[in-house]
Amino acid sequence: MKIKYLQNLFEYKNLNLAGKIKNHNYLFRISSNKNTFEKFKPLMYKKSSSIEEAKAFARTNFNITEISCCSTGNINELNSGLCKLYNINRGKISFPSCIKLYKHKNERFCGGYGNNMISINTFYGMFRTLAHETAHFNHEKISKNYLKMGKKTEIVESGNYDFSILEKFLSDKPSQKLIKRELYGYACSSPAEFVACTFEAIMCGKKLSLDLLKLYRKYEGPNAEILLKHQLEGESIDRAHATNSIERNENFLFRTIRKILG
Ligand SMILES: [Zn+2]
Repeated sequence: MKIKYLQNLFEYKNLNLAGKIKNHNYLFRISSNKNTFEKFKPLMYKKSSSIEEAKAFARTNFNITEISCCSTGNINELNSGLCKLYNINRGKISFPSCIKLYKHKNERFCGGYGNNMISINTFYGMFRTLAHETAHFNHEKISKNYLKMGKKTEIVESGNYDFSILEKFLSDKPSQKLIKRELYGYACSSPAEFVACTFEAIMCGKKLSLDLLKLYRKYEGPNAEILLKHQLEGESIDRAHATNSIERNENFLFRTIRKILG
């Protein structure tokens, strides 16, 4: 299983270095799914000239049927963010059918997710919140334990009353310390927030440690393998596609791997 990811990594890059670094395959324990790195065609973002055209783009490409927004600029920014998330996650991501954009400077919330809808307070920006709430949506889709991973009040609201996963998370001091060091305090409040904050940070280009990604996988965070590869490459798929500079990316990957291996 360990070697498999390594092979996939090099197959993807058409490289054959597995022999040279086989003693260091501990780096790649995270992966097991050989289909993760299938050939993927990135989706190109296209600026729309009207709200209707932008809504059609979101409906066709992401199955988002309802968007409430106030300007063409706003919805274009949303579509650009959706494309970025789709491309970094190699298409293995979904979005709720409804997205609501609003602007409230007096509200302290950046946004929220619930009832198949993401809402974003654009006063605090767009992409960061979109990434965070999309993580919640996908986490809920793939993890049967999602409702047990919220904060205490959220678990009670869901009628679950099983606090075992939350309590284990809160009492794991080394992990709490790690999360605080690499992310921020809010990510320590529950496993669900930890997963969403980790996903958000990587989508925004932050480099995180392998230990943190292992923890992310432990709490069933979406696309752990793809996120690790994204971090190893250090380049967004958008940019890689736009410049079409595969050779440069390979060199970057080599340099990064050498650096990690010491
Ligand atoms: Zn959250």
